[in-house]
Amino acid sequence: MSTVNVTPFSRRAARRLNLRTLILSLCLLTVLLTLAISLYASYTVQRQLLIQTTLEANRVYASKLAESTNLFMTSAIDRLSYSAHRLSGQLHNASQLQDAVDRIRLDSNRFNSTIIVAADGEILAYSPQKVYPAGQHVASPESLAALRQRALYISEPFTAPSGRLIIFIAQPIIAADGQYQGYVAGTIYLQEHNALDTLLGEHPYKDGSNLYVVDEQGRLIYHSQSQRVGEYVERNPVVSALMQGHSGSQQVTNTQGTSMLAGFATVPTTRWGIVAQRPMASVTSELNHLMFITVRNALPLLLVALLLIGWLTRLITRPLHQLAQIAHHLDDQQALHHTNNVRDWYAEAGQLKRAMQAGLRVMQHKIDRLSQESLTDPLTGLVNRRGLEQVLAQWSQNQQRFTLIMLDIDHFKRVNDAFGHDVGDLVLCYIADQLRQHSRQEDICCRCGGEEFMMLLPDVSAEQALAVAERLRLQVAGQNSPTGQPVTLSLGLAQFPETATAVIPLLKQVDLALYAAKHAGRNQTMVAQPAP
Ligand code: GH3
Ligand code: MG
Ligand code: MG
Repeated sequence: MSTVNVTPFSRRAARRLNLRTLILSLCLLTVLLTLAISLYASYTVQRQLLIQTTLEANRVYASKLAESTNLFMTSAIDRLSYSAHRLSGQLHNASQLQDAVDRIRLDSNRFNSTIIVAADGEILAYSPQKVYPAGQHVASPESLAALRQRALYISEPFTAPSGRLIIFIAQPIIAADGQYQGYVAGTIYLQEHNALDTLLGEHPYKDGSNLYVVDEQGRLIYHSQSQRVGEYVERNPVVSALMQGHSGSQQVTNTQGTSMLAGFATVPTTRWGIVAQRPMASVTSELNHLMFITVRNALPLLLVALLLIGWLTRLITRPLHQLAQIAHHLDDQQALHHTNNVRDWYAEAGQLKRAMQAGLRVMQHKIDRLSQESLTDPLTGLVNRRGLEQVLAQWSQNQQRFTLIMLDIDHFKRVNDAFGHDVGDLVLCYIADQLRQHSRQEDICCRCGGEEFMMLLPDVSAEQALAVAERLRLQVAGQNSPTGQPVTLSLGLAQFPETATAVIPLLKQVDLALYAAKHAGRNQTMVAQPAP
């Protein structure tokens, strides 16, 4: 024999998620996904925007600096050019020459030192003033190159004997007759205080941003970290672009492996390249901060939204939850009544509620009919033994006063024997009718087996009950039954709670009374003795 494994409803339900949790989880997931997607989208857009803006700002900054530097160089050249013109034919006057070099050096902050050299290389004047032995000649490769060139000469940045990085600019001094007389020149110390340093040093170094200048060879001639000056960085893609004469901006990984957003531009006079750059990491950290603020500002609203969702979810799931609870206890007498409390504010809940109510009504009706049938004697339509027991139990529990009349047809076997079983049944129905006729609305008439009957009469006195019993007995005895002859009845009568205070002794006493009536010759009523 196979057995069916039935899991109890509650255990099965407990293992499953409920609708509310499911909807809440779904909403939570949706909200979080939406937030994540919008944050991601905004992050990507802002990142791109920030990169573009930074690149453009650095490009503009680098080209402005290049322009200014170029202007500085042009004016330095012009200053030398003006002096060279003034000195033309005046190289014999030593004190005038000293005045001239001092003026060039001091009247602007362009040069760290200035010098006038004759065509043969002899130093004629030098500022800041230094006493040179007469006839001292220049010897540095840059000075000699300027003499050879006999035209405007701008040196590459070079390291002077003093150890300083220098550029050297020389303008030829040409006499009125066109003869080359020497040059007037200035030096600019790239790492020392002068207008160039001020120009480049003014960069606001925030967020790890920095600035550097390379010469034509890709060598650092200016860097915000001064110890790096002199380093060759031509491998840097931005520097290579500069060395090819390009200007612009790009994202680049520098020679130190750091990702940078660089703007770059060239200085036409010197062919230097200026690079303004900001580390990519600082852009990212700024963005992260921005995202953090966004999330922080969104959180309270998100919380409100979640509370609202929670409340709505409860509102939606409540009717279904209530209906499920009712379905769980369909056998409850109050199930139908409980459905009235379900607030079916939307269509599906309403449909479910109505369907459940219809089902419950059908079930209730069937149960009522079945219980009615189970408590009724099919032959006479009176209450049967089981029905009687229920009434007795209920009344005794409620302390309901009542009289119990028990009656039995005399010599019924003879009726059956003489007229047949069918006529016997008719007699039983006839007695049942007699009982009904002698009872009130609130009385209970019962066939409790064979040809034995009982009547329960609530709230009557012993005298009234005896009168009813006697009227019944006399009526039956005085008229013909379906056999064509009268039948007689023997009756016992007991009072609750006077005869007995419990059902079983009460039944026993009334049975004894009936037995006594039989024993005394039948067709009579006997009142039961109180239980001992
Ligand atoms: P007494 O006066 O002592 O009560 O005699 P009696 O013949 O009525 O006594 P007994 O209890 O011995 O007989 C009852 C008879 O009732 C026996 C049975 O055949 C008959 N009977 C029981 N139930 C039915 C029924 O449903 N229909 C019919 N026709 N007869 C029934
Ligand atoms: Mg009997
Ligand atoms: Mg009998």
